[in-house]
Amino acid sequence: MRHVAIVGSGPAGYYTAEACQKTFGEDVRVDIIDRLPVPFGLIRSGVAPDHQSIKNVSRRYEAVALTDNVRFVGNVTIGEQVSIDELRALYDAVVLATGAPADRPLDIPGADLPGVVGSAAFVGWYNGHPDHEALAPVLDGPGAVVIGNGNVALDVARILAKTEAEFAGSDIVAHALEGLRGHAINRVTLLGRRGPHQIAMTPKELGELGHLARAVPLVDAADFPPIEADAELEPGQRKSVSLLRDFIKQPADKPIEIVFDFFARPVAIEGAERAERVIVERTRLTPDGRAEGTGDTYAVPAGLVVSCIGYRTSPIPGVPFDTRAGRFANDDGRIAPGLYAVGWARRGPTGTIGTNRPDGFLIAEHLAEDLPAASAKQGRPGLDALLAARDVDVVTFRDWQAIDKAEIGRARAGAPREKFTSVETLLGAREGS
Ligand code: NAP
Repeated sequence: MRHVAIVGSGPAGYYTAEACQKTFGEDVRVDIIDRLPVPFGLIRSGVAPDHQSIKNVSRRYEAVALTDNVRFVGNVTIGEQVSIDELRALYDAVVLATGAPADRPLDIPGADLPGVVGSAAFVGWYNGHPDHEALAPVLDGPGAVVIGNGNVALDVARILAKTEAEFAGSDIVAHALEGLRGHAINRVTLLGRRGPHQIAMTPKELGELGHLARAVPLVDAADFPPIEADAELEPGQRKSVSLLRDFIKQPADKPIEIVFDFFARPVAIEGAERAERVIVERTRLTPDGRAEGTGDTYAVPAGLVVSCIGYRTSPIPGVPFDTRAGRFANDDGRIAPGLYAVGWARRGPTGTIGTNRPDGFLIAEHLAEDLPAASAKQGRPGLDALLAARDVDVVTFRDWQAIDKAEIGRARAGAPREKFTSVETLLGAREGS
């Protein structure tokens, strides 16, 4: 028997649990521990609320969760209620699948002005993450700036642009729907510090911008290299660039403009008491593909600035951290004997949800190599005793099923669920079980 603790119940956590089951069969016990009272991490609070089909993958995690050798232990914060050393003493292996929940800092003057938010907070707000429930962004327009040219920037621009009717069938939370209702934004500027060939947007997500009810994407033909240069791109990127080129032909005939401002890097945010404008410097590409400032600057009016420039893993006391890379220091997933990292906590915030599946198998292979077949560790009973002694209010998978049922039961018409958005209300919703 091997006792494995996985910290974090998002895709990386559940794929690792699944890989452990496939590798060790009945010969493993896995506890998936999460600081929130709800499982599934980014599937619930990162994937956009209008991308329900992506969220369906949680059914696969549920199947793993409902097996006897995998258990969900929610509402427990490792590094606070239980230390990493205590966990390592109880389990043969501790796998950190904590993702990258913190924003990469936007290191420019004015980044701390009211009205400037990171994508973790903004996405968490519209997705009902308890940490960001109270964000209440001011959307009094008319300008908004979204910094970054990745899929998160696209999500944020699309959420700002959609009409209420376009959220039908989504699980956007009520406070976000209310906050977005009747907002005054009519121009969302997407700042890309490099050019159309360097975007980090995938075709399906980019294509959606071309079909919005009240918003139109605008690009400037002058930003593009000659069309022959597209042949050098790998197929996915070529498709994305081709969609961008299609936007050149779009008439600007809708009330909200989504402006792709390429070769544009933010150098400061200004305003008397809150963000009023972003100072942007024109860039050009260096021969090795980096953005280099030209010294030409201009101002883009913006009462809301959302920085979507990537994420960092949150450090845990006692775990070696690679500050430059923003993730746990690890060698192909190995941090120290019996301590591993998987998913974004291992490799940084890249790839799709599916990328975490091979990542989980990589860790299971390491465990098969590294762990003794006969464990001398206590595993589950040891953790339960520790949590009981500390009076920790643990949320089980059965509790989550009650919360899930309650959320589905209170959904507005046509929506899959109405999430509870605070730890308190989530814990209260268990009582129906
Ligand atoms: P990302 O793909 O790494 O994009 C980050 C963007 O920020 C890049 O355009 C980058 O430009 C820019 N950037 C970085 N530092 C900057 C700075 N200091 N100033 C200006 N711009 C800066 O990150 P992401 O959008 O957060 O997405 C994270 C991961 O989640 C990605 O793998 C993404 O595909 C995935 N995701 C997928 C979906 C989906 O499939 N529907 C939705 C959301 C997220 P450079 O290229 O110049 O560095």
